[in-house]
This record gives sequence, structure tokens and C-alpha cells, in this order.
Amino acid sequence: ARQAGGDGWQFFNPQMHERALHRMDLAHGLQLALEREELAPRFQPIVEAGSGRIVGAELLLRWFPQQGEISPVEFIPIAEASGSVIAIGAWVFRQACLAERDWHRRWGETAPYVSVNVSVRQLDDPALADVFADILRDTGADPDRLLLEITESMLMVDIDAKLRVLDQLAGMGLRMAMDDFGTGYSSLAQLARLPVDVLKIDRSFIQDIAESGESRAVVEAVVGLGRALGLKLVAEGVETAAQQLELCGYGCDLIQGYYFYRPMPADQMVEAVERQTAL
Ligand code: C2E
Ligand code: CA
Ligand code: CA
Ligand code: CA
Repeated sequence: ARQAGGDGWQFFNPQMHERALHRMDLAHGLQLALEREELAPRFQPIVEAGSGRIVGAELLLRWFPQQGEISPVEFIPIAEASGSVIAIGAWVFRQACLAERDWHRRWGETAPYVSVNVSVRQLDDPALADVFADILRDTGADPDRLLLEITESMLMVDIDAKLRVLDQLAGMGLRMAMDDFGTGYSSLAQLARLPVDVLKIDRSFIQDIAESGESRAVVEAVVGLGRALGLKLVAEGVETAAQQLELCGYGCDLIQGYYFYRPMPADQMVEAVERQTAL
């Protein structure tokens, strides 16, 4: 990105040099992160809009290098650019499968499903379906209790090859969600071609649902579209009771957001589900 007021010479400024070095450090660090066991999954519950009952959880990756914590907003793009997202993505999928097994063993058919993010770079890998099939076999996880979240805007380039991989994954029984729905470019045209079961309405629309008539209109339209196509709807980033109420009014099925739960370690996730089972 060009800096405000910048000219060609700005490219050589010390901050940018610093940033480039920082990115290289991170790329290198990420390559070692797996073997150093610095990565950890967090789980954010997804609840029924009306009752607040936990029906699923999204696995969100965390990186704890020697010191501090780095956000996936920062390190996932670097992992995508450097290619390490392939190995990291396989590890993440294994963690999702292990969680599915554990929860299924604890709670049977009422166990929450596990939603997991898949990067476009993973879809570019022709071996992806085989790798995931091996992990499913290894762990004994139930594919139809696993949901792969794909970001729509990522699908634009070379869509036919990606569709083949997605169809392979769907053929293995895995479910698909379109993530950040509404922020991409050709949502509707793509939606019809994709083996999608769930739409996740982007947080940006939910955020100002109470103030902005336009956001309300978008959310209402997306819910209607999902309905018509027989898809489940998840509203992301719900932070207030007013937003929850609004979404219930539209008939949105599921909600994910700080208003109910923040992302948490696996043991706390188990406790949260146990608490509601005890009610
Ligand atoms: P995302 O897939 O859209 O995930 C939702 C993000 O919104 C998460 O941020 C979550 O913590 C945050 N969030 C949930 N509810 C609320 C809320 O009520 N308010 C606000 N302000 N935020 C909320 P997080 O964990 O920092 O992850 C950021 C992004 O990093 C994800 O966005 C996803 O694109 C990427 N990411 C995270 N884990 C993975 C992974 O394992 N693989 C890949 N490829 N990408 C990942
Ligand atoms: Ca997601
Ligand atoms: Ca099943
Ligand atoms: Ca999202």
C-alpha cells in the first residue's frame, strides 16, 4: 500500500525497510512455529440465535512465539505468501478433527460441529483432498460435523481448479461455509456454483445494523437469499443484545460474537458446553 502523501522515494524509507525485515522474520518464524509447538487452536462458540444454545464452534488459530502473541490477521497473509499455510492448514484441520472426535465422544449427536478456516492457497494445492482424507481416516472424525470456511473474495482467480478441489472435499462429506459473505465481488454468481451449506454474514454489516438502514437491508436480503437457497445463516461479530434481537427478527438461525462468547482454549469450550448441558 502506498503511504499517504508518499512519493517514489518513500519506498526506501527506514520504516518500510524495517517492515520488510519484520515480515521476513515472521515468515521464517512461522516455518519453525509448528515444530516449536507455538501454534494453538482457540474455539469460539456459535449459538442458536433465539436460545443461545451452543451448536458449533469456529477454530481460530493463535501464534505464541518466544514472546507475546501475533494475530492471525497479521500472520495468515504471511503464511499464505510464503507457502507455509499448506502445512499449517493441515495441522489446523487435524486439530479440528481431534476436537470433533473429543466432543462427539463426550456429547454424542448433540455435540457442537467444528468450523475451520481454509485458505485459498490450500485450495491451489492439488493434494489437499488427499491430505484431508488421510487426516479424517487417522482421527476417525465425522466429516459431516466439520465445516470448511472459505472466503468468497479469494475464489476469483482460477476458479475452475478451486471448484474441482471444493467438489472433491464436498464429495468426502465435508460441509462448506462461505465466510465474510457480502464483502466479495460476485457473490451471487459464485454461490450457485459452489457446494455451500452455510453463509456467514460479515461482521461489517452486523456492526451498524442498529444505526444503518443500508446494513439492515443487506442483512435482511442475505437472510432471504439464504432461505431461498436452503442454506443455514450465521451472523458474525454480534456484540450487543440489540443486534441479537434484530437478527432474530429477520429469522437468522445462528450467531457468533463477543456478546455470547469470545474465542477460548479447548478446555474452556468443554466447560461452556457442560454448563449448558447441566441446565
Ligand atoms: P474470520 O474467519 O472472519 O474469523 C472471525 C474473526 O472475528 C476472529 O478474529 C474472531 O475472534 C473475531 N470475532 C468474533 N466475534 C467478534 C465480535 O463480536 N467482535 C469482534 N470485533 N470480533 C469478533 P481472529 O481470531 O483474530 O481471526 C482473524 C482472521 O484470521 C479470521 O477471520 C481468519 O480470516 C483468519 N484465521 C484465523 N484462524 C485461521 C486459520 O486457522 N486458518 C486460516 N486460513 N485463517 C485463519
Ligand atoms: Ca472464518
Ligand atoms: Ca454423521
Ligand atoms: Ca468471517
